[in-house]
Amino acid sequence: MTARIIAVANQKGGVGKTTTVVNLAASLAEQGRRVLIVDLDPQGNATMGSGIDKSALSRSVYHVLLAEHEVAEVVQPAKQGGYDVLPANRDLSAAEVELMQELAREARLKNALEQVAANYDYILIDSPPSLNLLTLNGLVAAQGVLIPMVCEYYALEGLTDLVNTLRKVRLAVNPKIEIMGLLRTMFDARSNLSQQVSEQLARHFGDKVFDTVIPRNIRLAEAPSHGLPALIYDRNARGAQAYIALAAELTARLEPQTTTAEQ
Ligand code: ATP
Ligand code: MG
Repeated sequence: MTARIIAVANQKGGVGKTTTVVNLAASLAEQGRRVLIVDLDPQGNATMGSGIDKSALSRSVYHVLLAEHEVAEVVQPAKQGGYDVLPANRDLSAAEVELMQELAREARLKNALEQVAANYDYILIDSPPSLNLLTLNGLVAAQGVLIPMVCEYYALEGLTDLVNTLRKVRLAVNPKIEIMGLLRTMFDARSNLSQQVSEQLARHFGDKVFDTVIPRNIRLAEAPSHGLPALIYDRNARGAQAYIALAAELTARLEPQTTTAEQ
């Protein structure tokens, strides 16, 4: 059995990509899955949020993309949470330019992950807020995309660019890629706008929209400053519980046989 590789992407900034990657990783790990996070963002937020000091890295995903190191030489365990991290820092912003002269530049991550795919059940890729070569490496490596989004006025418009990019990726390099799910984040159930956008989402994307909704919850915002996933920082927080529910929904969708066997 080889890992399910999921790119978490949305070119819009601050929609909860990194929060989703870290908390879904910890929740899946708690549910017995072997998980690797790939940090593809030069901001290194998923790295820091996993308790790994990005300024102290001697090797990072940058070296993997430039084929200077193998994944196994760069991976580190998260400080807590029971998952692994392929970490990133600002070095990665140079990779875009440097990769331009290299062969198979959009397939670097895909090729590198093949060597470790058998060691994990899930590989979650955190993307930067743009549709650049780094994001593209994530989309080429993945079987599915998980799209976190905030239910606000321009949310659907923003999705058009991503859906078009996915179509191009499918035609040109990765015919397998599909939308694994849309995740409503920072959700305010009392807001009419959230409800309206939610309904539009369901109309456009049907059951691609996860039933699980991530509420706006201060604990989710506090946990990264301690280098911890929310379920370790404050397990009872509504945000932590929502990501535990998301992990259960995801495994039920992707592993139908095991789920029935366990029931
Ligand atoms: P970027 O595009 O910059 O990489 P992102 O899409 O990865 O951003 P996050 O960093 O996960 O988004 O979240 C943006 C900010 O909102 C962070 O400060 C985070 O702690 C906070 N945040 C994320 N999800 C929630 C939530 N459900 N409730 C409250 N705060 C949240
Ligand atoms: Mg981020």
